[in-house]
Amino acid sequence: MAVEKKSVEVKTKVKKDTSKKKVESSKKKSSPAKKINSKKSEVTSKKKKTVKTSEEVIIKQIPKEEKEEIILPKNNLRYYLLLIIVLLLGLIYLMIPKITVLGDKVVTMRYYEEYVESGYKGKWLFKNITPYIIVTSNLDNTKIGEYAINYQFKFGFFNLNKKRIIVVIDDVDPMIILESNTINICPNDMLPDIKYEAIDEYDGDITDRVIINTYEDKILLAVSDNSKNTTGEEITVDRTDRESPKIELKGRETMYLNVGSSYREPGYTATDKCDGDLTDKVEVSGDVSSSAGEYTKTYTVSDSAGNKSEVTRKIVVRNYNLYNSGSIGNGVIYLTFDDGPNEGTTNVILDILKDEGIKATFFVTCKGPDYLIKRIYDEGHTVALHTCSHDYSEVYASVDNYFNDLDRISDRVKRITGYDAKIIRFPGGSSNTVSRSYSYGIMSTLTGMVLDKGYRYFDWNVDSNDAGGAGSSSQVYNNVINGLSHSRSNVILMHDIKYTTRDALRDIIEYGKSEGYLFGKLENDTYMIRHSVNN
Ligand SMILES: [Zn+2]
Repeated sequence: MAVEKKSVEVKTKVKKDTSKKKVESSKKKSSPAKKINSKKSEVTSKKKKTVKTSEEVIIKQIPKEEKEEIILPKNNLRYYLLLIIVLLLGLIYLMIPKITVLGDKVVTMRYYEEYVESGYKGKWLFKNITPYIIVTSNLDNTKIGEYAINYQFKFGFFNLNKKRIIVVIDDVDPMIILESNTINICPNDMLPDIKYEAIDEYDGDITDRVIINTYEDKILLAVSDNSKNTTGEEITVDRTDRESPKIELKGRETMYLNVGSSYREPGYTATDKCDGDLTDKVEVSGDVSSSAGEYTKTYTVSDSAGNKSEVTRKIVVRNYNLYNSGSIGNGVIYLTFDDGPNEGTTNVILDILKDEGIKATFFVTCKGPDYLIKRIYDEGHTVALHTCSHDYSEVYASVDNYFNDLDRISDRVKRITGYDAKIIRFPGGSSNTVSRSYSYGIMSTLTGMVLDKGYRYFDWNVDSNDAGGAGSSSQVYNNVINGLSHSRSNVILMHDIKYTTRDALRDIIEYGKSEGYLFGKLENDTYMIRHSVNN
């Protein structure tokens, strides 16, 4: 009986073992090859042998009444078969080469990220076959998508493959590029067109996908790339008018007036970014008297947001004209104009002189309209005699010719103005050498003779060079102002037939006034600026 019991016990054990084995072997099939597994199956096969003998014993000793036990032999046969199959499978399993992919079987990485192989192992019949595994891949990390790394072992009829999946993704948010995150507009302005650009590192320019939502105080921009990475930007809309209006003065910021002349407002404009033209709202304060002194005009204006602007104009009132012209006149500017009059230039020059309250001297010829000579005279300038023809070959052919020419221009002036002009300027100046070609030594004769006849002749000590190399009004201006000196009288040679001179005159006068010069016209008792005679 004791034997029986024992064998029953063993039998149940066997049952348990086999069921265990079933599970294990099915596990083994799906799991990678391991040494332990093969060892285990060795152990179980040993056990089976033991069981076999005990079963035999049991069959013999089981009484006939025990029906249950009679069925056993059939079952046992099944177990044997199963065991054999398991054993064979185990063997086959051991015979099959195995590849183990280490690390994650599915790897997610960002495009352009470098793929790092986390390793693999190969085993076959306890041998390391890792070096014989061929790794291939279709991975392209520049493009998003799913790729595979293939691990292959090929030997004889074995063709073993394992795979690792690589998913290349774009998880980088696109960028919205704005000129600025705030815009300042006028309170009632429409929202301006905003400039923006949307760039995705992977998808490139996606500006056309930007979605814009506008609100009273902000503009929201959003964009998504192909991988649904989304970026948003906000532009703050500032509707505060912070800009002050602009006042622009017409005329000069500093004005020079002669004593006695009244101030005339040259005008101004005021504009505001948000309110537009505010000229009507400008308030002008400050009185300008006609007596000598410095005065200030203040112009102020405010826009509807309360931004205030103020500009000032300085007015200097003094006597710029030299009245006691008999003296040498240090620091005096004598503007002298030759070769006119001329329609288009002389009239403009007269306008400027009038406007500036300045007197000058015009050495006239027989050219130009009479009315301009009349105007020169009427407006208080000195009408002086230059030459009638201004033809050197005629004028300097002889002494008689010279005086004949001089009489002609003298008569013209007398006819127009009734004035007997006694101030003269030789064509080419008293220092001219051009007369040598026509009459040797004539200038020495003429300079003495004209004085004897009661004329006063004037040359110059500042040359604007407007009849020479000065081709622009700024050159004329520079030649004049660079030649000025406070320590002498300045007789400036200019030609009122020149447009450059006409255009430079205003600045020359303003410069002279700002530098404290006085202006004078040549008069019969004015100190003569004369050159040395060269013929
Ligand atoms: Zn001349």
